[in-house]
Amino acid sequence: MNVLDHGFVNLVESWGSDERIIEAARQSVGGGFVSWAPYEGHPKGDAGLLRYMWEHEHATPFEFAGAVFEVRAPIFVFREWHRHRVQAFSEASARYAPLPDLNYVPTVERMLQKGGASRQAGSTGATLTQRQAEFACEGIANTYKDIQYEYEGLLENGVPKELARLVLPVGRYSQMRASANLRNWLAFLKLRQAPNAQHEIRVYANAVHDMLAEKFPRTVALFDEGAP
Ligand SMILES: Cc1cc2nc3c(=O)[nH]c(=O)nc-3n(C[C@H](O)[C@H](O)[C@H](O)COP(=O)(O)OP(=O)(O)OC[C@H]3O[C@@H](n4cnc5c(N)ncnc54)[C@H](O)[C@@H]3O)c2cc1C
Repeated sequence: MNVLDHGFVNLVESWGSDERIIEAARQSVGGGFVSWAPYEGHPKGDAGLLRYMWEHEHATPFEFAGAVFEVRAPIFVFREWHRHRVQAFSEASARYAPLPDLNYVPTVERMLQKGGASRQAGSTGATLTQRQAEFACEGIANTYKDIQYEYEGLLENGVPKELARLVLPVGRYSQMRASANLRNWLAFLKLRQAPNAQHEIRVYANAVHDMLAEKFPRTVALFDEGAP
């Protein structure tokens, strides 16, 4: 799934399923998944059990499913993403191979966006005109060109990659794999799809959400209903 100007989210693999979550929960009573539809003694079927567990935060069964994503995103997005400590990450470091010349340039529309619900985002209180926004986007793109020139010059002059990378901007795209169980992916989505999350990580969270929804439709539908 393409995200921003050069980014993507790719589902590498997932494990478990909505049914497996029920099985994990029934381990305690020696049972398994029976049916999402009503059956004897269970007027709401196993859909009722899934809902009960979700609404009452019986969270451990949701740890018996999960997914690995490959992500290309600007470094400043990774900086926010990596705060989610219970995910496992493996990232391109630019120590062993130069990072490709891919940099995030916001669209003029994005430049003109207000901070939304985030109090932090609109700190200057200034309103850009269309022309100022265009000028800012051009300025960012031109700065990236200058930086790339400097970066390549350092590498050509024999500066080690691990030091040449010092000049790279946080708008440079990097690549990583991120792995977590479903419980933790949903905790990530709760924070990063929220209106006060920065737009650039929110669009990645939306992509993760949509791919999880394909693999775990019933659990993600419960998540989409809101609390807890
Ligand atoms: C809108 C927004 C704005 C933010 N702004 C800033 C900012 O300005 N500056 C900044 O530094 N960060 C900021 N953050 C990051 C935020 O403080 C969290 O670090 C980040 O959201 C990860 O959340 P988490 O700790 O729940 O996730 P994880 O690290 O994945 O942890 C998941 C859960 O495990 C438990 N846990 C994990 N580690 C510990 C621990 N050491 N002790 C106790 N419990 C633990 C907690 O229950 C936690 O909720 C912001 C986050 C958001 C969403």
